[in-house]
Amino acid sequence: MSTLIGNVGSLVTNDPSHGSGPLGLLTDAAVLVEDGRVAWVGPAGQAPAADEHVDAQGRALLPGFVDSHAHLVFAGDRTAEFNARMSGRSYTAGGIRTTVAATRAATDAELEANLTRFVNEALRQGTTTIECKSGYGLTVEDEARALRIASKHTTETTYLGAHVVAPEFTDDPAAYVALVTGEMLDACAPHARWVDVFCEQGAFDGDQAREILTAGAARGLIPRVHANQLHHGPGVQLAVELGAASADHCTHLTDADVDALASGGTVATLLPGAEFSTRAPYPDARRLLDAGATVALSTDCNPGSSFTSSMAFCIAVAVREMGMTPDQAVWAATAGGARALRRTDVGLISPGARADLLLLDAPSHVHLAYRPGVPLTAAVWQGGVRAL
Ligand SMILES: [Zn+2]
Repeated sequence: MSTLIGNVGSLVTNDPSHGSGPLGLLTDAAVLVEDGRVAWVGPAGQAPAADEHVDAQGRALLPGFVDSHAHLVFAGDRTAEFNARMSGRSYTAGGIRTTVAATRAATDAELEANLTRFVNEALRQGTTTIECKSGYGLTVEDEARALRIASKHTTETTYLGAHVVAPEFTDDPAAYVALVTGEMLDACAPHARWVDVFCEQGAFDGDQAREILTAGAARGLIPRVHANQLHHGPGVQLAVELGAASADHCTHLTDADVDALASGGTVATLLPGAEFSTRAPYPDARRLLDAGATVALSTDCNPGSSFTSSMAFCIAVAVREMGMTPDQAVWAATAGGARALRRTDVGLISPGARADLLLLDAPSHVHLAYRPGVPLTAAVWQGGVRAL
């Protein structure tokens, strides 16, 4: 069974061999989908025959968003905390413990229903690949069950036992690090692809983060780091040194941090929803791009500091507030996310890639930034299957 999506007014391939610029942009294009994969890309006039035809009506088609940073296994919400913060109180890492208490008290079914809701919410907005972290259990059992549940919905699961020190260990953080690198890691590693640490004042320092990431890597998990979000710290340098796939947040960077990201293989993942929702200064994407770093955009969807699942929102904010061009922001939300997850089969529309496609109700991908807050999803395909 093959499907030809024709009459595509503007096609973002993220493969420069197909079209102009880094987006590999084609106009008046078509895409052939076969067996869940992209089989052909090119000018509409040269399209091959297909079993089924979809008329894109001159609208824009782009790769489904790759959201490489989200925290979706949790219970409860933090409306009151957000309300208080928007009324003048500042954000600290400590609020995570509120969600930990609610998450521990929830049943597996409640957690999975919540997760399913958010994955579908993201899908309706064009996100076809989403990463999901643990980190609201902070016991051996609760972290392992978070990852068990998440792994039913995504292959991109991240062990974040080191989100904050569990409340039971406040007086003995070293014992908690021993748990995270020992029994908890043993229980979680079979369900996770990645290991992550919140390297931040009030969470884990550089030495602790190094110990946790190294222990995870020894079990085959690939490091990624919550780095330099609220203050300058050692997270970015550590991420690059350990060959982490991604350093996430990157809000407070020295020139040495920017150089390290530009010369190393670690993607700088920017999460503007967090700065938006905590009324904090945005990371400087322009500085990173000018230095030559690879930049990804993600939602950081979580109930405390960034309760959005909208990649389009992140694109709009990145363009308006962080010095990104619309092309750069769309690349970062698709191909950039794929780089941050070390995926070569998503984030692009090219023969062999997964047919994860987003058709916009707009003539150009630029509308994602030009029309902020407007739902622009016309259709989504995931692995070649029409999801909506
Ligand atoms: Zn996060």
